[in-house]
Amino acid sequence: MDHTHQHGKPVSILRFSDNKEVIVDNRELEKIFNHPEIQDRKVVILSLIGAFRGGKSFFLDYCLRFLYAHFPSIYNPSKHKQSFFRKNDYWIAGRDEPLKGFSWRAGTKRETIGINIWSDVFLHTMDRTGEKVAIFVMDTQGLFDTESTPTDNSRIFALGNLISSIQVLNLKQQVQEDHLQYLQFATEFAKFALKKNLKPEGKPFQNMTFLIRDWENNEEFRYGAAGGHNYINEVLNIKQDQSQELKEVRKSIFDSFEHVNCYLLPYPGEVVAGYKNYDGRWSEMDTTFKAELKNSIEHLLHPDNLVIKKINGIDIKVNEMKLYLQAYMILFQSNEIPQALSAYEYTVESHMNNLIEKSVNDYKLTIYRNADLINAQNRQIVHEKCKERALQQYNAENKIGTAEHDYRFKMKLTEEIDKIFGYFKQQNEQIIKEMEKEREKFQTILDRE
Ligand code: GDP
Ligand code: MG
Repeated sequence: MDHTHQHGKPVSILRFSDNKEVIVDNRELEKIFNHPEIQDRKVVILSLIGAFRGGKSFFLDYCLRFLYAHFPSIYNPSKHKQSFFRKNDYWIAGRDEPLKGFSWRAGTKRETIGINIWSDVFLHTMDRTGEKVAIFVMDTQGLFDTESTPTDNSRIFALGNLISSIQVLNLKQQVQEDHLQYLQFATEFAKFALKKNLKPEGKPFQNMTFLIRDWENNEEFRYGAAGGHNYINEVLNIKQDQSQELKEVRKSIFDSFEHVNCYLLPYPGEVVAGYKNYDGRWSEMDTTFKAELKNSIEHLLHPDNLVIKKINGIDIKVNEMKLYLQAYMILFQSNEIPQALSAYEYTVESHMNNLIEKSVNDYKLTIYRNADLINAQNRQIVHEKCKERALQQYNAENKIGTAEHDYRFKMKLTEEIDKIFGYFKQQNEQIIKEMEKEREKFQTILDRE
């Protein structure tokens, strides 16, 4: 069995430069999202976010092992699906194999803040609905880091929320009040980016999972998902005697996510936590940690728990997600979210304008191609035909936005086509006039002869 997954690699799609500018690598992004196999699939995005040296990449690399064991991927399409109910830890496979994937290191050197995406994308058909999905894995660096400002942190956190359908927040030992405040700040920030199009009844984001490392309180709250569930409920429980601020933080989290989960992981042992040359291999972990790591990954990535990315209540496909991502990143590049145009509006605008341009060009091409045959009598008829064709093409396109957008952009398309027809008519009349003149000239020559 191939667990080495050397086909994929972490690809940086966004990072902060030394002077805090956001650098976006659109080329890499296009490469991953434009793969023909996934264009029409719906999107599941697993994102892990948290401070440096919190064991994020380590956890994600084991997630990758799980994913490679169970799903085909764009680089590995013929992989047979494995049963998810086998009890042993078959998917760990090479127990003495060094861990590969998102690089992780034992050093203390700070890496850049940013977002890395795994270049290989997993393919799955949902058991219940038969929907085809593409599973993306994303590693986000740099939260709660002493060197990054709260603004950097919440921007990157907000971006994580906007992009992912399963957001895992990786924390050491416990959930602290300032983590919750960050989370609230980030979700408000992210909601602001979606702004006008937020439906009051729906929750903007899907799944928020707290992943607590080095959990010490196994007596009160047991390791794993069940203990985590109780723990997070306790943390997020709104209590009468709490200050208004604490209450609001909690309410905001409940209002923002459809599901809130939590896993409690034990201390992994001296080797994992402390050895400089530790290479991530399974065999060196403490036994309890192994069991809990395995359980939490099997729970997190169980096909029943995969959540399709929704924006404004609508399932998002890969080609649409790419547009959203690019629009969000442009917003984050601009250092502040423009007031007038929310990220959502911005995305719809740019996508729909592209569609319109395509149809307008189609109209232009057909009417000018027919120009030889057009005279004052049949001009209107040819125009109507070409216009109809362009509108049909537009209607067949994959649109985003609301019915209102659809209407507005259809009007815009009609107007642009009519404008082009206006020019065309002028030119056409000019040509006809000139031809008329030429004909008269020849006629007089002929008459003279
Ligand atoms: P990242 O910066 O969050 O991606 O962290 P890494 O995955 O690179 O891991 C940083 C260090 O933490 C490595 O030396 C890992 O061996 C170690 N590590 C991984 N998981 C855990 C854990 O659950 N607890 C502790 N204490 N250390 C861990
Ligand atoms: Mg890392």
